[in-house]
Amino acid sequence: MPNAEHPFDVAVIGAGIAGASVAAELATAGAKVVLIEQESQPGYHTTGRSAAVYSPIYGPQPIRALTRASLLFFENPPAGFAERPLLSPIDAVFVARADQLDQLDAMEQELSDASTVSRIDQDALYERLPLLREGYAVAALWDTGTSEIDVAALHQGYLRMFKEHGGTVMTRAPVTGLTHGAEAWQIATPQGDIRARKVVNAAGAWADALGHMAGAERIGLTPKRRTALMVAAPAGYDTRSLPLTIDVAEEFYLKPDAGKLLISPANEDPEPPCDVQPDEMDIAICVDRIERAFDVSVKRVESPWAGLRSFVADKSPVAGFSRKVDGFYWLAGQGGYGIQSAPGLAQYAAAELMGKPVPEHILAERLDPQTIQPDREGLGL
Ligand SMILES: Cc1cc2nc3c(=O)[nH]c(=O)nc-3n(C[C@H](O)[C@H](O)[C@H](O)COP(=O)(O)OP(=O)(O)OC[C@H]3O[C@@H](n4cnc5c(N)ncnc54)[C@H](O)[C@@H]3O)c2cc1C
Repeated sequence: MPNAEHPFDVAVIGAGIAGASVAAELATAGAKVVLIEQESQPGYHTTGRSAAVYSPIYGPQPIRALTRASLLFFENPPAGFAERPLLSPIDAVFVARADQLDQLDAMEQELSDASTVSRIDQDALYERLPLLREGYAVAALWDTGTSEIDVAALHQGYLRMFKEHGGTVMTRAPVTGLTHGAEAWQIATPQGDIRARKVVNAAGAWADALGHMAGAERIGLTPKRRTALMVAAPAGYDTRSLPLTIDVAEEFYLKPDAGKLLISPANEDPEPPCDVQPDEMDIAICVDRIERAFDVSVKRVESPWAGLRSFVADKSPVAGFSRKVDGFYWLAGQGGYGIQSAPGLAQYAAAELMGKPVPEHILAERLDPQTIQPDREGLGL
C-alpha cells in the first residue's frame, strides 16, 4: 500500500470523527488520501464515547457557528450515506437553582439571538419536568433546537464515503515519526513508511504529541476526562417524555436513552492522553448530584465509561496550517462538541487543504476563521 514513488496528497492521522469526516470530504473532492489509525477499530477513543447530542446553543461561539453550519449535512447527507436519519429531535432544558440564577441570566443573554430558546419559570418547569425534585430548581431555559445524533451511523457513513471515493484506511498503524523531506512528509508506522504532501493532525487527545513529533508549534491541548453511566429509570416512568436536562453550571446532565437514564457529573478532569477509564469518585459524585436534583434513587450503576474531551485555552477548535512547519494541518481541540460540529468543520478544513475559499454556508453562520487558527492569541505554552 505505501508507495515511495507516488506520495499521497494528504495523510490524515486519527480515524475518529474528525479524521474520518475530513478524509471523506478530501477524497470526494478528488484528493488521494490515506487515513491512518493506531487502533484496530476507528472510533475506539473519544468518538465512540460521546453523549451523542447536537445542540447549536452549546459551546463557544465558533463551535456554535460550525454546529449550525453542520445542520445541512446532518439533514441532507449524500445519497446512501446512512440508512436512517442522522438526527432525532429532543427538547433540552438548562435548569438553575436559586443560587445559579446569575448564570442562567448570563446564558440567556449570550443566547439572545437563538430563536429556539425561551425562559420558563418554576411552575412551567415542574409541569414539563415532574421528575425534578421538589424545590430543587427555580427557573430554566428551554430549547427546542436540540437533537440526538446517530454517531455510529455518522462515523461509519464517513468511512464508507471515504472508501467509495478511493480512500485508503490503515488501522493498527500508530504513527511513530514524522519528517518533512524536500517534496513530502515521511510518516513512520510499524507497517512501513508512507509519504504524503500534506499531513492532517486529527489525533484527538494525542494532537499536541503528534505536533511535537512533526516539529510544529504547541497548541496547549489539555485532554479532560468526562465520565458517564447508565441507570434504570424510576419504575413505570416513560422516559420518552423526558428532555435532555443539563445543570446551567454544567454540574450534571441527564438524558433519556432507550428506556434508561444516561447520567454524567459533567466532569472535566485533566488526564494525559490514554485509554481513559471511569473513576469510582466520578461515579459517586454523579449519583449524588442526580439524586439531589431528581426523584431518582440509583440502585445499580450500569456500564460506566469515560472519554477524553480535549481543549485548548479558549475551548474553540484549532483548524489551520502550522505556521512553523510546511504542509502540517491542525484539526484538534474539538472538546465536548466534536460530533455536532464535525460536518461543518470537515468542509471548512477540506476547503483550506485544497486551497479553496471557506464555503459560503459556513461564513453565513458567522464563523470568523481567525478564531480557530493555530496562531490566534492565547494558544500554546
Ligand atoms: C462523555 C463524553 C460525552 C460527549 N458528548 C458529546 C456530545 O454530546 N456531542 C458532541 O458533539 N461531542 C461530544 N463529546 C465530544 C466528542 O466525542 C469529541 O469532540 C470527538 O469525538 C473528538 O473526535 P476526534 O476525532 O478529534 O478524537 P478521537 O475520536 O479520539 O480520534 C482521534 C484518533 O486519533 C488516533 N491517534 C492518536 N494518535 C495517533 C497516532 N500517533 N497514530 C495513529 N493514530 C493516532 C486515536 O487512536 C483516535 O482514534 C463527548 C465526549 C465525551 C468523552
